[in-house]
Amino acid sequence: MGERLRQVSAIIERHPTIPAEAVIKEDLLRTGLAFSPAALQLAAQFKAKAYFIFSFDLVPLAEMGQQEHWKAPEEIWMEGGDWGFRRTIVSVRLNPHSPYQVDAVDGRAFLRVDGTPICEIRFPPVPEYYNRTLASGKRVIEIAPTIEWGYLIYLTVFRICQYFGDKEECQFCDINENYRQQIKEGRPYTGVKSIEEILEALQIIADTDSVSHAYTLTGGSITSKLKNQTEVEFYAQYAAAIEARFPGRWIGKMVAQALPKAEAQLYKNAGVRIYHPNYEVWDADLFEWICPGKARYVGRDEWIRRILDAAEIFGPSYVIPNMVAGIEMAQPNGFTDVEAAIRSTGEGLEFFMSRGISPRFTTWCPEPLTKLGKLNPQGAPLEYHVRLLETWRDTHARFGLPTPPGYGEPGIGKAVFSVSSFMDVIAPQPEPVVPAV
Ligand code: SF4
Repeated sequence: MGERLRQVSAIIERHPTIPAEAVIKEDLLRTGLAFSPAALQLAAQFKAKAYFIFSFDLVPLAEMGQQEHWKAPEEIWMEGGDWGFRRTIVSVRLNPHSPYQVDAVDGRAFLRVDGTPICEIRFPPVPEYYNRTLASGKRVIEIAPTIEWGYLIYLTVFRICQYFGDKEECQFCDINENYRQQIKEGRPYTGVKSIEEILEALQIIADTDSVSHAYTLTGGSITSKLKNQTEVEFYAQYAAAIEARFPGRWIGKMVAQALPKAEAQLYKNAGVRIYHPNYEVWDADLFEWICPGKARYVGRDEWIRRILDAAEIFGPSYVIPNMVAGIEMAQPNGFTDVEAAIRSTGEGLEFFMSRGISPRFTTWCPEPLTKLGKLNPQGAPLEYHVRLLETWRDTHARFGLPTPPGYGEPGIGKAVFSVSSFMDVIAPQPEPVVPAV
């Protein structure tokens, strides 16, 4: 048994209430995945990675020796194998140097760790709408890609963030660097998507698809103005246009800054049902270090106040702030001890969940073009991620909170959320009915 497999097996043994699938998923998300030439050849016939907002890769595109970024699938589906895995969907984060490798023989793909086969792998089918183009010639994959095995339409309508440079950008975020590298690589990558092209792409999806159930509207922060509009004016107009054309067809979600109450109300008025004012990291000092732009323009206390205000507008279950799981252990300023990091993040979970708000997380991908990624190429320890899953699950259960809406079915073998395992580890329970606007 190789070293990585030994470490992972020990962690699985130490945490018997966390499914082994979720432990492997977290390790894949923090480490990335390599593809053999045969697996890449097979994967190229399936739904490709769209680079829906960030790079979510462990190496820059320029260092992809096999041009993996053009051929790799958006996600993988782990199942079966010697470990008897139940279906588990994982976002593909490329790393040609990873101990995890997808290989293929006779048209069947499987996952290896340190060369040992673990489970079988399926790739996502190409949806009908990915074969269509808009009148402008742009492809639907660029304007309205889907993730979570087709459940979520991901609309990054502004691919740049106005928090710019070292002193403002969130230190884990490569939105601006990723935009630059994609343009350099020649990928069609619209900086600001028009409402018309969004509606045209959604019309194609509406006409051809029954798998998608939600859309996310998002993009970089707007600290001054974009096209003469403030952040709320800019993003709300997309929601309003989508809901006017396709009333209630999908659950509308907005990932944007924590805005003052009157402005957050404008999102609600536009038809947004779920609001994600992401707080990224709980610890006050780490927030200052990791999110300097947010700290300067809004401030942590005000950010938190606005999350609570938003709960009065949307209802607490429909405010789901994201944190980037693992950045609290980024060096040189983060926690060095897993339990201390979990205590801090657990305090944040307690704060929000006791008020009916369930934060969720995205497992940190230490992208190499970010400040934190350069300093911490190994990311956070796997033990941290597994402890966080336990803590999130137990706190969520203790407060008797409903399954977060807008993520599909919970539970191992059913969840589709692909950038963290929080939906895989909660016990199946009905998703609350999302109220119509
Ligand atoms: S606000 Fe931070 S996380 Fe969001 S896009 Fe800008 S730099 Fe990235």
